[in-house]
Amino acid sequence: MSSRRVIVVGGGAAGFFAAITCAEAAPDVEVMVLERGPRFLSKVRISGGGRCNVTHACFDARELTARFPRGERALLGPFRTFAASDTVAWFETRGVKLKTEKDGRMFPFSDASQTIIDCLLSAATAANARLLLNRGVERAAQRADDGFELTLSNGDKLACDRVLLATGGCRAAATGQIAVSLGHTLEPPVPSLFTFHIETPWLRELAGISVEVVEASVPGARLRERGALLVTHWGLSGPVVLRLSAWGARVLHRLNYRFPLQLNWLPHLDAEAISGELHSRHQTQPARFIGNSPMAPLPARLWEQLVLAAGIPRDTRWATLTRAARHSLIQQLIRTEFEVTGKSLNKDEFVTCGGVRLGEVNLKTMESRICPGLYFAGELLDIDGLTGGFNFQAAWTTGWIAGKAMAAR
Ligand SMILES: Cc1cc2nc3c(=O)[nH]c(=O)nc-3n(C[C@H](O)[C@H](O)[C@H](O)COP(=O)(O)OP(=O)(O)OC[C@H]3O[C@@H](n4cnc5c(N)ncnc54)[C@H](O)[C@@H]3O)c2cc1C
Repeated sequence: MSSRRVIVVGGGAAGFFAAITCAEAAPDVEVMVLERGPRFLSKVRISGGGRCNVTHACFDARELTARFPRGERALLGPFRTFAASDTVAWFETRGVKLKTEKDGRMFPFSDASQTIIDCLLSAATAANARLLLNRGVERAAQRADDGFELTLSNGDKLACDRVLLATGGCRAAATGQIAVSLGHTLEPPVPSLFTFHIETPWLRELAGISVEVVEASVPGARLRERGALLVTHWGLSGPVVLRLSAWGARVLHRLNYRFPLQLNWLPHLDAEAISGELHSRHQTQPARFIGNSPMAPLPARLWEQLVLAAGIPRDTRWATLTRAARHSLIQQLIRTEFEVTGKSLNKDEFVTCGGVRLGEVNLKTMESRICPGLYFAGELLDIDGLTGGFNFQAAWTTGWIAGKAMAAR
């Protein structure tokens, strides 16, 4: 090898960001991206329902780290180096303006992930990075002279001075094996960002209903979250469920995704306030059927089912609500208990909890502490965030830092 060569393994978000950063910072370095699939950036394409939720309008590094069930503390330094505002500026400099939705998620104005793909591809090409498809890396070995030799799935061998592993979430054991073969440890991979299966028939009848704010908790697992809830054909989804699944990824895996879930449908009110509200209806509308007079902001169909689940017959009027039945209704409103019996992938975004152990990586450079010249970026690391653009932000940040560091050496 005459000049320095950097090989990026994996043509996803993190790999591209690292390759572009390195190639722009060190034009004399030959930067190659090896992608095993027939397309680059295939997850970017499907991300955010085809719109690509690029990042989140959260511009304080510490606040941003709080959105990472894995990597929270370790990411503070990296996010101070390359923050969400840097992502916005990076894309804007290259002609892609991002817009912010009410909930803070940021998308390209075009609402098309293809805009992001085109931007990354053209930036990589302009920086003279060599982009190679259908080049799966099977093995990597350290050479005596400080570099690496990579063996590709077609038997070809490639030598390089630095290698970056950006092969994505290692849910399939093989994805992390190159890192393991070079001395690294994987935190066992389990899914994060999934939805809950619940077989309760009355809940399933409510498929399609959403409630803006509920409090969901898993007693015994110390998990409690507030947020919007969506009833699906197989159980429950929505931001509050995804957050529980992310913070509880490990413990819920240990429970084999079978656990009790409690919902408080009116978390802004305490039992006393609810009791007062029920009592006032008893006084002001004694002749109305209970099941027909929902308490705001609960949807009418949900209210009706909760009344029935409390054991109150459909034809009960407020005037005849007994003290015991009122107590039972309050319990149902603040503590409905469901049995979760499994999980499904959330189609909008899912990630892997687990990956290369962070203590083995220098997060100032993303270089391995075990194998000099080896770098990591993206979801292969034991870093994963909540849904909302945080996972891409981690990919951009770690990719950018690795790219700069590889260019400097
Ligand atoms: C359906 C879906 C939607 C999502 N939407 C969003 C979103 O809107 N916003 C957000 O922030 N996050 C989203 N995510 C998460 C986000 O896509 C990932 O966190 C992010 O893509 C991780 O980037 P990465 O580069 O580390 O890995 P990846 O994007 O997975 O890229 C890794 C690449 O490496 C390649 N590769 C693997 N092994 C080898 C090998 N041995 N040799 C060569 N190449 C290899 C793979 O083929 C792949 O192309 C979504 C995830 C999914 C599944």
